[in-house]
Amino acid sequence: MHIVVCLKQVPRDNSVKINSDLSINAEGIEQIMNLFDEYAVEEALKWNEELGGKVTVVSLGPDEWKDQIRRALAMGATDSLLLSDPSFAHLDTLSAARVITAAIKKLGDVDLVLCGRNSTDDESGAFAPSLARLLGWPQLTYVGKVNEVSDGDKVVAERHLEEHVETVEAKLPAVLSVVKDINEPRYPSLLRIKRVAKVEIPTWSAADLGITADALTPAISVSNRVPPPPRPSGEMVDGADTNEKVRALVDKLMSAQVI
Ligand SMILES: Cc1cc2nc3c(=O)[nH]c(=O)nc-3n(C[C@H](O)[C@H](O)[C@H](O)COP(=O)(O)OP(=O)(O)OC[C@H]3O[C@@H](n4cnc5c(N)ncnc54)[C@H](O)[C@@H]3O)c2cc1C
Repeated sequence: MHIVVCLKQVPRDNSVKINSDLSINAEGIEQIMNLFDEYAVEEALKWNEELGGKVTVVSLGPDEWKDQIRRALAMGATDSLLLSDPSFAHLDTLSAARVITAAIKKLGDVDLVLCGRNSTDDESGAFAPSLARLLGWPQLTYVGKVNEVSDGDKVVAERHLEEHVETVEAKLPAVLSVVKDINEPRYPSLLRIKRVAKVEIPTWSAADLGITADALTPAISVSNRVPPPPRPSGEMVDGADTNEKVRALVDKLMSAQVI
């Protein structure tokens, strides 16, 4: 069983600035593994422990993204791949999915691809569906539980939707995007972190993937990007002691018809 996890490195702080060309400026901000991707890595590791095979972590991004690839290796991923090329610098989601599709096809023996529900920076939530469409594989989105994976056969999973839980089944190979409550991601041990610190991460370029510039023409361009207006500051509730403050707060909530 070969499971691929698509992993994105993102800025920890949401208060990133916007550059004049509308790209996100994350300079000086700590980079972390995209929240949902930690759950995807954990889910892949769990099924790998049960079924055997390998877990390959794939990132499309600059060289610095090796940091989070290494974190996934320290968690237990067996293989890794960075897709990096100057022509990958200004991709939209569809082009990014095209590049990863080419990599998955080149890997050749992939049974299951796990993605996060969305990234916490660009947040399109469109990557996994684009990937599934380009590969021509079934897509299971909002997966909150994987009930069954049979090697080379099928996957049965629960889609955790706002109003209900839906159990779905698909033939492998398939693409899944996972939500947060699917599992509890493990912490990598210090020993493993040290062990993978110097591991060579294979890197494929556009030429390695046989991708030409015209395949990367964005279908969407960002015409404006502004942060939301600042939230109005909160109101302090006065009172001599806690009881009085709580009473004043309840009065305010009742007069505003919140309770
Ligand atoms: C209009 C536009 C312009 C952009 N311009 C740039 C740019 O100039 N420079 C730049 O670096 N990026 C740029 N990006 C972002 C980059 O192309 C994103 O990686 C890609 O678009 C995925 O979009 P998303 O993060 O919204 O995916 P989402 O669908 O929100 O992500 C869901 C999941 O898909 C997977 N995933 C997403 N992106 C990657 C990735 N890169 N590698 C591995 N797995 C991934 C992860 O599992 C993630 O949890 C741009 C995006 C858009 C929409």
